[in-house]
Amino acid sequence: MHILVVEDEKKTATFIRKALQAEGFAVDVLHRGDEVLPFVLGTTFDAIVLDIMLPGRDGLSVLRQLRSSEISTPVLLLSARGEVDERVEGLNAGADDYLPKPFVLSELIARVRALGRRSSAHMPVELRVGNLALNTLAREATREAARIELTSREYLLLEFLMRSVGRICSRSAILEQVWGYTFDPGTNLVDVYIARLREKIDSGFKPKLLHSVRGVGYVMKVEE
Ligand code: CA
Repeated sequence: MHILVVEDEKKTATFIRKALQAEGFAVDVLHRGDEVLPFVLGTTFDAIVLDIMLPGRDGLSVLRQLRSSEISTPVLLLSARGEVDERVEGLNAGADDYLPKPFVLSELIARVRALGRRSSAHMPVELRVGNLALNTLAREATREAARIELTSREYLLLEFLMRSVGRICSRSAILEQVWGYTFDPGTNLVDVYIARLREKIDSGFKPKLLHSVRGVGYVMKVEE
């Protein structure tokens, strides 16, 4: 099994790496959150051990970024704080397991082993809202059997909206999830992409699925 460990405390990272290697795992280590996505796009891992407090990009944000990029590698979150809120937030963001620090190494190893055994098939392959379908493996959208061509950014936007079906997505949440921006670039980027996406998925179809919520953001839903 090939494991990625993301931990900024070098001593802890080394400790974890050595323990996993002693179990026969191949281990890569990163120390910054913003290095994770580019690294994972180039290599397939069986599991990721992800610390929450990281420089560059925190673990929860990394996790959301991975999931919105359709990377379903099982993730074990590590946190120095064992608060319930953070655990719930982590699981909501797509973590598969959670281990508060300090932990016993044998427990970490057992949990990593369990995650590595899981198939990557636990993420839904097809998302549906009304008669709009999105295949997240093939990255193909279809509506009433008509294939809809999407650019990669439009795909990420549509997937985020469909995964959030019924929930309002704010512009800032969209900027973070789809573009990785944690700041407002001060442009109408989101609105431009929403307009393009709406033209592709809603124009000529009924019912309308992509709705604006004035002053708040956007929501995918089947209008009653
Ligand atoms: Ca840390």
